[in-house]
Amino acid sequence: MNLKDYVANVPNFPKEGIQFKDITPLMADGQAYSYATNQMVEFAKQQNAEVIVGPEARGFIFGCPVAHELKIGFAPVRKPGKLPRETVSFNYDLEYGSNTLCMHKDAIKPGQRVLIVDDLLATGGTVEATVKLIEQLGGVVVGCAFLIELEELNGRKTLENYEVLSLMKY
Ligand code: AMP
Repeated sequence: MNLKDYVANVPNFPKEGIQFKDITPLMADGQAYSYATNQMVEFAKQQNAEVIVGPEARGFIFGCPVAHELKIGFAPVRKPGKLPRETVSFNYDLEYGSNTLCMHKDAIKPGQRVLIVDDLLATGGTVEATVKLIEQLGGVVVGCAFLIELEELNGRKTLENYEVLSLMKY
């Protein structure tokens, strides 16, 4: 199956110059969606992951089915003000401005083996912040799985010390 057949490229969304990778056609096709998540499940098994962590919102779309299939837990990474109990947070710089991501303080047990799942690796800022949150909680990042990797943005450089799976490269 060629997963790229199920990704729509949308030029200049949400702003001029961005080639937005729309994954909703892939999600709409049961065979393609399950083919993609199954590859992440195999990677999670290889890495002996004990919990899946995914950043909002599209990390949930791929991370939750992987956790469900493996009968392991899922912990969300969210923007400030969304998680109701005590959180840890990490602030990182964007091209213009900055961004903060949070996790519940008890989301990961010390020593737990964590697989990060997200839809797309671009600059790597989101995944790097996610790694920092997990490590702050004492978790061990055993890998990062992405549906799509935008190679020219070189997000992998932030993940040199981690196992990375990407199902499609552009
Ligand atoms: P980054 O932190 O730069 O690696 O960006 C990763 C996040 O931004 C992913 O969770 C994506 O959902 C979103 N994203 C970045 N660039 C794109 C793109 N070209 N198309 C779709 N989503 C994108």
